[in-house]
Amino acid sequence: MGKVCKACTVFKDLCEFSKGPTNKDGYVTTCKSCISKRNKEYWRTPLGRLSQIYTAQVQVSKARKHPQPAYSKNALVDWAYLNGYSQLHSAWAQSKYEKDLCPSVDRLDPTIGYSLTNIRIVTWKDNNDKAYSDRKHCVHITTQNRKVRQCSLDGKEIAVFGSIANAARSTGITRININDVCRGKSHCKTAGGYIWQYAD
Ligand SMILES: [Zn+2]
Repeated sequence: MGKVCKACTVFKDLCEFSKGPTNKDGYVTTCKSCISKRNKEYWRTPLGRLSQIYTAQVQVSKARKHPQPAYSKNALVDWAYLNGYSQLHSAWAQSKYEKDLCPSVDRLDPTIGYSLTNIRIVTWKDNNDKAYSDRKHCVHITTQNRKVRQCSLDGKEIAVFGSIANAARSTGITRININDVCRGKSHCKTAGGYIWQYAD
């Protein structure tokens, strides 16, 4: 027993199709290999990759016994586009989906859960290298008493703080995140929804 797959139009044995109770013959209309190919392509689209990241965060949080991500999938998508995701995604696509360049999201402070002030966008390789160096050296934060300026996204100055630590305390935005933006180390141009720069 078999049938023709709607997508590749090849006649295949029924065991090549998943069960689909709502279909007359009890099997879905597209064969398993066409569906897996379609899924693989979906995971490579900008939104598909973010969906995959979000699903992984939900699962990993559960496994670590951390609270669930403090944001919805849509909020993650909005945040990602504000923080340089499209550039990173196009670089990945241009590389023909090189694994090392796959966009990924990591936590700034790995001891706590996922929240919009505790994540940043990195490549898969950055994420893995960082996980390795965090384990090896503990997280190292540069503490410099340089003044920092907080600006709105349209570049208007909101406040100047005596140091990054000070800014982090006053705004509740993670110190490493502000630090990375000031030092130009991060793919993110913003932290906590603000532009940050050294004021001196
Ligand atoms: Zn097929």
